[in-house]
Amino acid sequence: MAQGRLASLINRILGRTPTPEYVKPRPDYACGRIVIVPRYVGNFLPFMLAERPTLPIHATVLHNREPLADGDEWWDGVMTVDYYRRRDIEIHGSSDIHGNAVCGPDGLAYNGRPLNWPYDSYGGSHIAKEWGHVPADAQQHVPPDLRQLAYPDREWLNKHAVSVAAVGRFDEEPAHPLPLSLDVAFRVLAGVHTHFGLPADRLFLHYQAAYKPRNRYCPGRGITVEWARDELASRLAPAKLQIAQTAETAAVTC
Ligand SMILES: [Zn+2]
Repeated sequence: MAQGRLASLINRILGRTPTPEYVKPRPDYACGRIVIVPRYVGNFLPFMLAERPTLPIHATVLHNREPLADGDEWWDGVMTVDYYRRRDIEIHGSSDIHGNAVCGPDGLAYNGRPLNWPYDSYGGSHIAKEWGHVPADAQQHVPPDLRQLAYPDREWLNKHAVSVAAVGRFDEEPAHPLPLSLDVAFRVLAGVHTHFGLPADRLFLHYQAAYKPRNRYCPGRGITVEWARDELASRLAPAKLQIAQTAETAAVTC
């Protein structure tokens, strides 16, 4: 603390911009201290992946953020993301915004909780459904692949999964081309899966873990896990192809 105040005083004397809070999170993190900045995906991914995660990353979760009204007049960039943050704090009692990224209808990615968050929770992906060790209605149970990874830790996804939210209502199967926010979300997910070496089937949908009433079927009734994993896999394929080509080139050189 004292060191932080001294650095801040030196910065003020020298007229330097202080180090943003999200670069070096402190254990006494107060509510809503993350500095949210909009970035293009190409800039967002290196920013997010630069920090060493608090715990190993084994999965990702896709969420949506509900639009505040019909049409797009309501979207106001970082102000809107900050509204989502205040809702997470005031309604859910969280310490800051849920999740690690919010992908806007403007095609930009907004940072959420950094991967080196001092707490072992990225927020927003609590496993609330029954573990379902006996066959029953699949909608009411955690799917077997997620259960195998997480059981019996209901906070497993909050500790080991990167959460990415797309702004929009996805109650119909998304058309091609995808809504911009969803396209950005899949580009972020593809970057995360590539960086941590995760196959597409490590992507989960929030409603697989949580009970969601009809109007909060996060990330949307139109998104199935099969569709989402196919969409993600199609974006991972070029990277694999590139690796294969590099290996072949290397083999020829040898
Ligand atoms: Zn969600």
